[in-house]
Amino acid sequence: MKKHFPLLLAAAMLFLWGCQQERQEIDAVHQEGTDVAVAQKLKAAGFDLSQGFYPYQNGYMVEYDIFLTEAQIDELAAAPQAQKGGRTTHYRTNNLVAALPRTLQVYMDPAFGSYMQSAFDQALGRYNALGLSLSFQRTTNAGAANISILAFYEVSSTLGYSGGFPTNGNPASTIRLNTYYYNNNSRRPDATTVVAHEIGHAIGFRHTDYMNRAFSCGSGGNEGDAGVGAVHIPGTPTNPSANSWMLACSNNTDRPFTADDRTSLRTVYGGGYWEGLPGGATDIGVGADGTAYIIGAGAVAGGYGIYRWNGSNWDNIPGGAVRVDVSPQGTPWVVNNAGNIFRGDGNGAYEVLPGGATDIGVGADGTVYIIGMDVVPGGYGIYRWNGSNWDKIPGGAVKVDVSPQGTPWIVNNAGNIFRGNGSGSFEVLPGLATDIGVGADGTVYITGSQAVAGGYGVYRWNGSDWSMIDGGGVHISVGPQGLPWLVNNANAIFRRR
Ligand SMILES: [Zn+2]
Repeated sequence: MKKHFPLLLAAAMLFLWGCQQERQEIDAVHQEGTDVAVAQKLKAAGFDLSQGFYPYQNGYMVEYDIFLTEAQIDELAAAPQAQKGGRTTHYRTNNLVAALPRTLQVYMDPAFGSYMQSAFDQALGRYNALGLSLSFQRTTNAGAANISILAFYEVSSTLGYSGGFPTNGNPASTIRLNTYYYNNNSRRPDATTVVAHEIGHAIGFRHTDYMNRAFSCGSGGNEGDAGVGAVHIPGTPTNPSANSWMLACSNNTDRPFTADDRTSLRTVYGGGYWEGLPGGATDIGVGADGTAYIIGAGAVAGGYGIYRWNGSNWDNIPGGAVRVDVSPQGTPWVVNNAGNIFRGDGNGAYEVLPGGATDIGVGADGTVYIIGMDVVPGGYGIYRWNGSNWDKIPGGAVKVDVSPQGTPWIVNNAGNIFRGNGSGSFEVLPGLATDIGVGADGTVYITGSQAVAGGYGVYRWNGSDWSMIDGGGVHISVGPQGLPWLVNNANAIFRRR
């Protein structure tokens, strides 16, 4: 009998077979029937084939518990190279569930007993507690389900597997759990985690430790084709992430979402809510120290009043302006309605700077960029503060914000979004924007181009594309922990919680 080493191994089995035997088993399986072309495609998509790769039914099992048909393998391998990031701990595929916000109907096979039915409800509850733009609802109608969790019985070390990753914006439809392990008698402590784990694959998450399986499995590969096919999730660590729900192996304990897990899920699928703040605004800026300023809605000389958040309301400080961003020390840089640029001390004193601007952005490292007043293709010239004046860099734009490393993210007058390297080279990003904000942790939000209530849809950069969250606005800035502040087209002010 051919033994397949499962992705989610019981610790006892690991001990039983041991490292050397495991390796031999894989090699034997590989020789028995895996197709070389399929292996090359999977390697190109970033999978580790050193273990847990073998033909299974009408497709292949990869990394032990991910079942892929050849059509799915082709789609994964065909993802654009530009979307492929480095090896990291928290990561996702290029394939995600789309058309958010969305509620997925999930079906649980009645063949599972009450213990597993309860674990299923708890797993869905863990996702729903995060307030993601993707929520999950139990259905008893198998035909209407987006995801079905079905029982199979096999005397083997396989705990379960997912039916691959999302395709065409829909989740992988079928998850199978082995009732040899998951039944009313076993009452395995990892049941809720295993259900949540397989749903994680179905919505596009890969193993947290895919390039270092030894982290959770005690042995295993760091082989495979590194550096492709895995998209790093911004804001998550680059070191192994203990207790993640997406670790490759189970130690048969329950693993609720860790803080990093929650960051991953919220980055990819939104989450949280908009808290309405008092007052009215026409622009907003948040510094790396968390200090928030707005340009108000009441006209004064120079534009509108300038206000600083005191934790419960807005304190008016002297001056009038139309654009604001905030230094890492919490002091404002503003532009008035004549294009004049001022650096404030936060107490109402301003130093006039040379030049003219239509927008301004300050990075967490103190780097300042403006959009100038000279018309060029794409909008206006782009300039960086050198300490005494503005150095022009190539390109044209209408909106700018600055990364923690001091590089510009810009939006041009066609709504196109670019990430600059600071030396005048820009990478075009997908989508269209009307405003852009970059947090001190590197989190990037835009207001998009699609009209919704309040202005335009709000999107977060997920490493290769924009994930829509709820809400609408026209001006956006991002706080130091990656949470956005938003002003809508009725001048209402919101912060993300
Ligand atoms: Zn898995």
